Amino acid sequence: MNDSRMLYQEVILDHNRKPRNYGRLEGANRHAEGHNPLCGDHVRLSLNVAGDRIESLAFEGEGCAICKASASMMTGAVKGKTVHEAEELVSEFRGMATGNLDPEGEHHLGRLKVFAGVADLPSRVKCAILPWHTLHAALNAEESVSTEESVSTEEE
Ligand code: ZN
Repeated sequence: MNDSRMLYQEVILDHNRKPRNYGRLEGANRHAEGHNPLCGDHVRLSLNVAGDRIESLAFEGEGCAICKASASMMTGAVKGKTVHEAEELVSEFRGMATGNLDPEGEHHLGRLKVFAGVADLPSRVKCAILPWHTLHAALNAEESVSTEESVSTEEE
């Protein structure tokens, strides 16, 4: 417990100091904004989705440490993944943060497991989940540039 808590703090601090993929993406074809009024977190995502794959993405905004670290780690985790794989991570992360997924069980979260601790901090759950909600919105946005392609069926 102490070890995982220390790792958690270390990772959060690190991603706050040096957020990955921070900024706005040139030529992005998906955008979404997320807001968590409870804390004042605000996340803007820009993605470049080619076919079924998230080629690149970036985030910007103002948020607390947990929100920013979650957004930073999320961009690293879903970059290069297919939309289907990203959606799977969204639902797994949501499950873990709300205590509905066993972090020691089977999942694809990898290092994102450090966020398992927020399940015990009800006021922080929304901070951690916000970037993932925003990603989900961006992937399902109606106003995306490549509307024709997004209709195609999923293939594994
Ligand atoms: Zn927050």
